[in-house]
Amino acid sequence: MATTKANTALAALGLDESALLPLTDNLYLHCDVVEPYRALVSAARQQNIELTIASGYRSFARQLAIFNAKATGQRPVLNDAGETVAMHTLSDADKLWAILRFSALPGASRHHWGTDMDVFDRAAMAPDYQLQLTPDECCPGGVFDKLHCWLDAYLPECDFFRPYDVNSAAHHNGVAPEPWHLSYAPVAQRFAAWLTPDVLAQTIAASDIELKATVLSNITSIYERYVRL
Ligand SMILES: [Zn+2]
Repeated sequence: MATTKANTALAALGLDESALLPLTDNLYLHCDVVEPYRALVSAARQQNIELTIASGYRSFARQLAIFNAKATGQRPVLNDAGETVAMHTLSDADKLWAILRFSALPGASRHHWGTDMDVFDRAAMAPDYQLQLTPDECCPGGVFDKLHCWLDAYLPECDFFRPYDVNSAAHHNGVAPEPWHLSYAPVAQRFAAWLTPDVLAQTIAASDIELKATVLSNITSIYERYVRL
């Protein structure tokens, strides 16, 4: 029991992979999410939707690499208009907020849990189509409109939900809308309960994160705006 609790606490932060199962070569989900996800895929298939995951489980190390590459300008940070932000002109605090608009803080990504996934409809894509995962793709007239109309109708009947849709608290607090991001509530709730500002602060303090002092001095507002749903 003690081991399970410790594992859950670490897994909430993307630091324990023992409960994951491979869905495909590079794609992992929590073992309790695989069957519900397969059922969702089957239901979608009845509508000729080929539900496919672009991104599932992501480790703390992976999220840290993304965050640090954005903080140091090695990877572009975009604004709401899709333009690259001139990071070198910003204060450390403004760099942090610019990154968090589209990327989670390492330790605070729902992708750490194996319960969350970014999905698209492979059947709707032309063979040469480049997947973007943008809101435009999910709107009427967009390539994934059919998928999202189906999700609108089907999600209330199952245990998956969209934590970052336009009606979510997270969106009102500053997370950009991500209608393609699904979460399996029964397992995700277990992990969410472990994440507190203190746990996040300890994890960040022990990591090699860029902007560490700024992250730590803003940890309560980061938690309120981006983590707590
Ligand atoms: Zn996502």
